[in-house]
Amino acid sequence: MPKEGRSKSISIGKETVSPGEHKLVKISIDRLPTGTLIDIPIYVFNSKKPGPTVLVQAGLHGDEINGIEIVRRMLQEESFHVDRGAVIAVPILNIFGFIHFSRDVPDGKDVNRSFPGTKTGSMASRMAYHYTSQILDQVDFGIDLHTGGAQRHNYPQIRFTEEDEVSRQIAEVFQAPFVFPARLIRGSFRNAAFKRGVPVVVFEAGESMRFDDYAILEGMQGILNVLHHFEMVPELDPVYAEKHNSVIITERKWLRAPTAGMFIPEIQNGSAITKGQELGIVTDTYARRRKQVKAPYDGFVFCINHQAVVNQGEALFHIGK
Ligand SMILES: [Zn+2]
Repeated sequence: MPKEGRSKSISIGKETVSPGEHKLVKISIDRLPTGTLIDIPIYVFNSKKPGPTVLVQAGLHGDEINGIEIVRRMLQEESFHVDRGAVIAVPILNIFGFIHFSRDVPDGKDVNRSFPGTKTGSMASRMAYHYTSQILDQVDFGIDLHTGGAQRHNYPQIRFTEEDEVSRQIAEVFQAPFVFPARLIRGSFRNAAFKRGVPVVVFEAGESMRFDDYAILEGMQGILNVLHHFEMVPELDPVYAEKHNSVIITERKWLRAPTAGMFIPEIQNGSAITKGQELGIVTDTYARRRKQVKAPYDGFVFCINHQAVVNQGEALFHIGK
């Protein structure tokens, strides 16, 4: 499990948060063409008692708003109190993307492919750089909140790094409905953290630009499960989401559109599936041709593409067993 030290001050930007303090601090990133300065707001809850420093971040992709709402609701909870260690909470990392309803920054670059970043690089690279240099080295482990991209709806799921045993343990403690390892993507935040020895799990729930209350509650519950596991917060009562045994997925694949047309899913996300079951159809617009999408094995579906019109080969269902 993560290392712990004595209670320590946390310094971000020009601000220091001493043990026993909680504070809103900011990282200055860039200027808009209008001259307006853009800061990333960061809440730091630093307890007097020593313990791990945990990063909870959302909005690395600006249009993935469920995570932003998870952090907002946690901050709003009057009972949210850190008893031990410190929590660094970042509601929106990619401020630019958020105000543009976009995954990326205005020049089209993905911040989550730009880590660790450079001081003089593109906007995405600079955001990654400031974030890496000011936050990552002070953190013992992190929880990164995402949703499916575009119109792909992820049933609440937590992803860990196979090479990192601690990230697997944190993922299990989180108790999302689905748990599985995901390979490290070059330039991602999780990869940059892994290289610095900081375990990170990625919670994926819902789809971009849509609130999904169930996904939000599962996320809040998961974060508190982890914080409670490390005795950083008291046990919750009542809970946000019911306890369930996570389904651990060891093999997964995408089922793709067998032809172009209109895609009609016929199954609820999160369901168990059986080999040969029709999961959906892709049909032409004239009621002449239709192709079935069938389950290749017994397992579960944990992502459904909600795009109505699809091209051949487009990802429709993410399934696993
Ligand atoms: Zn994302």
